[in-house]
Amino acid sequence: MTSRIRALNEELYQDFQENKKVTTSSILTKLTKLRRELRKSINENKCSWCECDIEKFRDKTSRTEYLISGLCQDCQDATFKEAN
Ligand SMILES: [Zn+2]
Repeated sequence: MTSRIRALNEELYQDFQENKKVTTSSILTKLTKLRRELRKSINENKCSWCECDIEKFRDKTSRTEYLISGLCQDCQDATFKEAN
């Protein structure tokens, strides 16, 4: 089961990858939708990626990161490990 956020992320990525002739407004529409979904999952105290219930964060930085990306501690760890 894919979350709405994953689907939107995927769409944006595909458009970019395929170098489609996308209009700025269509990208903005998708980004707006993405942000709306993100805010919704934060309001529900859920992870925007794996959709688990948020329990706790390791530190204040992780907590702040959650308010930006909506990622739970596990997903943050996975994301930032990949980035390194
Ligand atoms: Zn997660």
